[in-house]
Amino acid sequence: MRRIRAVGRVLPFRVNNYVVNELIDWDNVPEDPIFQLTFPQPNMLSEANLSRLLDMDHAGKSIAAVDREVRRIQREMNPHPARQMELNVPVMDGRRLEGLQHKYKETVLVFPRQGQTCHAFCTYCFRWAQFCGIEKLHFACNDPLVLPRYLKAHPEVTDVLFTGGDPMVMRAKVLRPYIDALRGLGTGHPLTIRFGTKALAYWPYRFLTDRDAGELMELFEDIAALGHQPAVMAHFSHDRELETPAVAQAMRRLQSAGVVIRCQGPLVRHVNDDAGTWARMWRRQVRLGAIPYYMFIARNTGPKAYFRVPLAQAYRIFSEAYGQVSGLCRTVRGPSMSATPGKIAVQGIAELLSEKVFVLKFIQGRDPSWVNRVFFARYAADAAWFDELEPALGDKKFFFESGLDRITAEKAMDLVPPPGALSGINDRTGSGTPLRWVH
Ligand SMILES: *Cc1c(COP(=O)(O)O)cnc(C)c1O
Ligand code: SF4
Repeated sequence: MRRIRAVGRVLPFRVNNYVVNELIDWDNVPEDPIFQLTFPQPNMLSEANLSRLLDMDHAGKSIAAVDREVRRIQREMNPHPARQMELNVPVMDGRRLEGLQHKYKETVLVFPRQGQTCHAFCTYCFRWAQFCGIEKLHFACNDPLVLPRYLKAHPEVTDVLFTGGDPMVMRAKVLRPYIDALRGLGTGHPLTIRFGTKALAYWPYRFLTDRDAGELMELFEDIAALGHQPAVMAHFSHDRELETPAVAQAMRRLQSAGVVIRCQGPLVRHVNDDAGTWARMWRRQVRLGAIPYYMFIARNTGPKAYFRVPLAQAYRIFSEAYGQVSGLCRTVRGPSMSATPGKIAVQGIAELLSEKVFVLKFIQGRDPSWVNRVFFARYAADAAWFDELEPALGDKKFFFESGLDRITAEKAMDLVPPPGALSGINDRTGSGTPLRWVH
């Protein structure tokens, strides 16, 4: 208990009675996968850091002194992976649109301010630094009218993804203005409106018995009535999350409101690093009328060492699970890394000109011409993220690297103020002079 409490000071911890009573098998703690998924684990910290915290606790050190030590440990754990969001904040009329992210041509992400927390926290979450306040919430959106304005200027966008945290922690009446604002678009720009959520796994009652569950269903129906397609991107980490009567009822209710459910989750050690779990998960999703969508590689942040699954092993797990299921489950893609250049899937391990290589493919690319392109990296048995890979076959660089540098430089140019425009640079809300922001 003392060790778990110490780790819980460094990494965010939150859980609810549904997870505790209906998902965790307390006879199997600590190995239980849902216990691993939600409760801080002693080995998530290095031995040195954990014993320093325990010593401080034992010696009755002041809260301020412990907090300072906690911050130091958090800073060691790569709290700002990739800094992707900054690069992807769209600019319109020279102004940054806070709370939107536009990385891939067809999909805009929206981070509504009230959706930046979750029903329970996943121990592997890459937003951990935001939840424990070490990273500021620069990116939250407060103004529902920003979205239709941006969409009018970007007819190439086909998908809007509400994300968080978890936008399904929001009350329906807070979410409603974002949907009502889309009325201004008219019928000429049909969209898929996606909601990325773990509520089906952590709090299915959100869609059943919460006071505004009915109002939320009306919201989904209204999305359809406006000519858009409502979709839920459901985060599931283990087949047990799909077994309760509540989750099955919640999925049925969403489907009868016209929502299409797709399922995704990361592959993590101690939680779901075996083929059987994934095969059962995909089968169960299909039986509940949902569509398996992505298997992700966990990002390189927080207690990554604890959760790390090497790419080679991830590929074996994926393939073995994929081989056990029917074609209806094989809509799933992966294992995929959401890295700076795009979503990169491990497609195979092969030998080319007597060099062992990873066969990789862009599922999504910052430049659309990269999508579906196959390329190679030198095989490395322990590599667990893209930045641990090197080009294969004697290449010095991956084919997209110069393109990525160009995109990054152009993005930075967008944000450099023209001469004389620096006055009013702190006026974040000003509506007079168009602002340009220094990156
Ligand atoms: C995954 C992702 C999307 C959506 O990609 P799809 O392949 O269309 O699901 C959009 N933006 C970002 C930043 C993403 O990581
Ligand atoms: S539900 Fe998603 S955002 Fe929330 S803690 Fe889990 S991984 Fe993070």
